[in-house]
Amino acid sequence: MFINYKDEIGALQKRCYECKICSLGQEEVDGFDPHVFSNGKVPSDIMIIAEAPGSTETRKKIPLCGTCGNYFNNEILRVIGLERKNVYVSNAVKCRPEKNRTPTDKEIIICRPHIDAEIALINPTLIVSLGNPALWAMCGIKAITKNHGQIHKSRKWSNGKTYNVFALYHPSYILRCRGKKDVQKDVQTDLINLKKLINEL
Ligand code: SF4
Repeated sequence: MFINYKDEIGALQKRCYECKICSLGQEEVDGFDPHVFSNGKVPSDIMIIAEAPGSTETRKKIPLCGTCGNYFNNEILRVIGLERKNVYVSNAVKCRPEKNRTPTDKEIIICRPHIDAEIALINPTLIVSLGNPALWAMCGIKAITKNHGQIHKSRKWSNGKTYNVFALYHPSYILRCRGKKDVQKDVQTDLINLKKLINEL
């Protein structure tokens, strides 16, 4: 079946930017529209899911950018042999929560139709979740400290499929834990294992 990816992703982007279903999408945050859609390769074998946009993201309208995004591009993607232009990057929740708080489970559930539609279109071989909310959004699992560095089965999406999800810590957590040797060692190990996995895809 022929899929016009440009039109399809454009339609999902429009639907995202027009959405005001929950309170997060109702008002500007710090003078900027709170919505941020995905970016990257469409379709893509690798789909990266973070939690929700922050202030830099809402200004630039790019998920996972700014300090966190630079770390992600240079210290995570590059280490596993990928470039940003070759992966699809999105957030489990499309609108920025006030004061950059973590999105609630309820907000993740309300926003799910957006990520569901993206997953159906992108149909990745592997999803990489970043942090607790993204892992919960993908798999219904919490406790990233126990579950990072492992492959989990995703929830069943509306296309009837489940996907393999590799859980990583969120880059902002890794940056906050720069002085913690145990966390940095875990990250190194996770990235070695993720690189191996991707090379075998
Ligand atoms: S967070 Fe999701 S569901 Fe809520 S308004 Fe934004 S796009 Fe819509």
